[in-house]
Amino acid sequence: MTYRDLETGADLRELVARLYPLCRSITGDGVRRTLEIVGEHIPLEIHEVATGTRVLDWTVPQEWNIRDAYIKDASGRRVVDFQESNLHVVGYSVPVSRKMSLTELREHLHTLPEQPSLVPYRTSYYSPTWGFCLAQETLDALPDGEYEVHIDSTLDDGHLTYAEHVVPGEVADEVIVSCHTCHPSLANDNVAGIAIAAAFAQTLENPHYTYRFLFMPGTIGAITWLARNQDRVDRIKAGLVLACAGDPGSLTYKRSRRGDAEIDRVLAYVLADRAHKIVDFSPYGYDERQFCSPGFNLGVGSLTRTPYAGYPEYHTSADNLEFVSTEAMEETLRTLRDTFAVLDRNRRYLNLSPYGEPQLGKRGLYDSLGGRSDAKQAQMAMLWVLNLSDGEHSLLDVAERSGLPFDSVAAAARALHDAGLLKD
Ligand code: ZN
Repeated sequence: MTYRDLETGADLRELVARLYPLCRSITGDGVRRTLEIVGEHIPLEIHEVATGTRVLDWTVPQEWNIRDAYIKDASGRRVVDFQESNLHVVGYSVPVSRKMSLTELREHLHTLPEQPSLVPYRTSYYSPTWGFCLAQETLDALPDGEYEVHIDSTLDDGHLTYAEHVVPGEVADEVIVSCHTCHPSLANDNVAGIAIAAAFAQTLENPHYTYRFLFMPGTIGAITWLARNQDRVDRIKAGLVLACAGDPGSLTYKRSRRGDAEIDRVLAYVLADRAHKIVDFSPYGYDERQFCSPGFNLGVGSLTRTPYAGYPEYHTSADNLEFVSTEAMEETLRTLRDTFAVLDRNRRYLNLSPYGEPQLGKRGLYDSLGGRSDAKQAQMAMLWVLNLSDGEHSLLDVAERSGLPFDSVAAAARALHDAGLLKD
């Protein structure tokens, strides 16, 4: 099996464009089709969890699928049409087929009076109802009269679908990267994150940690995953929930609940040289809510561009393909790579020759620097690593305190380790 590359911004954009039209929800065939497409780029292990399965304090709901939906006026014209945009139907709408007056219908219509040209995104997962979403402008143009309402959906016992992609590392300790797969045609809020996570997964080669990518519906998916992996979450060293990954706003990192987890420090370091915001944890937003619930309290933060609900296009039809920027997606991808390049090499070492400076020359460590344009920096990095490797300080501590680039510090540590002067 060969997998399709996601190397360029154009590749990312193409994947986003393929995923965008699918009608996803927390369950159903839209999620399966999404995972099938992602599976053309990276191998995925698909999990199907039956309706009714108890997961922590929740229960896996019935599976929702939809084929068509519309509101027709008296002339038979579709004035609201699911085929035009899947946002037009409230997610998890129960089937309906009847005629009613506009007055009666209004109780089932959702608009955004403040943004009259946009269609809102609404769901009703846990209380059975039906509804349509439309632009206020469309509603205002509807004359009184009788309308035909039709939602061809099914809500049956079935499954909740999620997927994992694992890149094995040298150690069983894990890093998780999680993104939600439950939003229909919203480009920034979930599709961009899915594409970027897949692209990042492709770039990982022989990592130190084992990387586990999770593609699962928000809330119930994360809860299901945690319920099924409760006995192994202590392996998770760090993680990121990736969402809203392609809008033109600057990057935002939301700290883990712990606030001082390794991932929090690494992100602060990596983001320092690009436009960004760092915010403290709050029990709202995406699946960091579940990973950072007090029973788990994992070192998992959340990387977005403009955060949850922080942009006017959020949860509306304006979160479309034009709203996501290729450059922004490329920058988010670069940030993921830089973050895990630091985290993956960050360790604490012990200087095995801590009394006075060890003689570098006789171990060939000066020769290795000869002729390098960055010889001075490489030498400083060795001296800093030797000095701070007391078992207490990590390489990130060394980089921060010395002001030297992390790459240089990590390279020095490798050379010193190979020369027998450091141990893990
Ligand atoms: Zn959302």
